[in-house]
Amino acid sequence: MAPEPRESRSSPSSLPESALSSSLGDLDPEAFRAAGHQVVDLIADYLAGVERYPVLPPIEPGALRPLFPAAPPETGEPIEAILADYRRLVEPNATHWQHPGFLAYFATSASSPGILGEMLTAALGQNPMLWRTSPIGTELEIVVVDWLRQALGLPAPFDGLLTDTASTSSLIALAGARQAAGIDAAAAGLTGRDLPALRIYASAEAHSSIEKACMTLGLGRAALVRIPTDDAYAMLPEELEAAIGRDREADRRPIAIVATIGTTSSTAIDPVARIAGIAEREGLWLHVDGAYAGAAALIPARRAAFTGWERADSIVVNPHKWFFTPLDASLLLTRRMPTLRDAFSLVPEYLRTLDREAPVRDFNEYTPQLGRRFRALKLWVQLRSFGLEGLRRRVEEHIRLAQEFAAWVDADPDFERLAPVPFSTVCFRFAPPVLARHEDHPAHRRRLDELNARLMDAVNRSGEVFLSHTRLDDRFTIRVAIGNLRTEERHVARAWELIRREADRLAVELE
Ligand SMILES: *Cc1c(COP(=O)(O)O)cnc(C)c1O
Repeated sequence: MAPEPRESRSSPSSLPESALSSSLGDLDPEAFRAAGHQVVDLIADYLAGVERYPVLPPIEPGALRPLFPAAPPETGEPIEAILADYRRLVEPNATHWQHPGFLAYFATSASSPGILGEMLTAALGQNPMLWRTSPIGTELEIVVVDWLRQALGLPAPFDGLLTDTASTSSLIALAGARQAAGIDAAAAGLTGRDLPALRIYASAEAHSSIEKACMTLGLGRAALVRIPTDDAYAMLPEELEAAIGRDREADRRPIAIVATIGTTSSTAIDPVARIAGIAEREGLWLHVDGAYAGAAALIPARRAAFTGWERADSIVVNPHKWFFTPLDASLLLTRRMPTLRDAFSLVPEYLRTLDREAPVRDFNEYTPQLGRRFRALKLWVQLRSFGLEGLRRRVEEHIRLAQEFAAWVDADPDFERLAPVPFSTVCFRFAPPVLARHEDHPAHRRRLDELNARLMDAVNRSGEVFLSHTRLDDRFTIRVAIGNLRTEERHVARAWELIRREADRLAVELE
């Protein structure tokens, strides 16, 4: 079971009697104010004390559902009781993404100004689907998208929008690519017509969201051609050219290339400048996936890794990853907004705006969905509060901590680093020489995989840190991904200490 929740400093004490008295069923303004203050206390306590929780709650699957009534409440309950249950049942049973020991996957951590922005977003209840349904939601999004473009060092022809996730951003970009190829699936669909097989190219290490986009867009997973990578897990451009050549030869139709800067497994960097040259020669849409690593482009001295991305047709970077913006916020930049509109615009009578002629953006015309969140507000609050300088400092520190961690791994004869560390993620494994020496033997290789899985599991059970894994070159690979706003040197040092301690325990077994 999860641990007992800690005492909260904010007492759940008296809310006004009127908490349930509003004839609307809603909280009346004074009850809302009192409950709201309690919620802010609760949030502040949580952020200040999150390290008291194990990063991963020690619970078994299915253990939580029985804690809640099977049927919804027929009559309203006091907000006080609901907040008490939040403290007792919800908070302790979360996986603590806000915990500085969260070193798994890629971190998503919510900065305090970002949280305040989310509260204001909920309060204002904007739906910037049309300009008129939210003038401020629409125009502030245009402003913030352009701020981010400048912050990333990209040229003015890039315009764009905010979506929920990189998955959606890439889906929209690839729908644009399909439209740009003249297929006009938006009007004619893909079935019952004379169409060649369509092809999209991405590296073997590209994120699953690219493959999912192919599934969703009706191209099928078969449309995705996975290009082999080099020793550093970066796409081989000559293999890309060869694959495109083979497809053209066989009368298949290439439509897009996806290059990744910061792959999900090992944060590899595809050679974007060379890939951009190929895309230009072949007349293909180039989409760059920088969902995680894009934040490093905030730092001018780190932009070498991004050379060539300014030639892309579209780029995705996730503020909800390494920019510390609360989920959800993904930035889709593109030079081809009109093409996205061709792919998604549909204006029924009830959405037509009759009372104006001025060309104003109606964001719903660029996306699959109609209703949209006012995501620009939290970004505006956060960017002003941190300043670019404040964001850069955290990102730079995470890169430094990763270099330091990599050096510890490299200096330890029982450990092996499995990929370069261009950003803030270290891929490695426990490879004691007795086993690693005979890795050619499949039994030894399996043994190493098992050993590392057990090592990672033991470290995660400590509750102090949370690591995740991948496979590189068919080897079980532990990842330490540093990207939580609140992760400091002591957390990274503690992670290494725990890894070393568990490795020593496992080594005894090997003797
Ligand atoms: C995390 C990640 C994604 C998916 O991001 P979502 O916002 O969760 O959809 C896509 N590509 C890369 C390279 C990623 O690291």
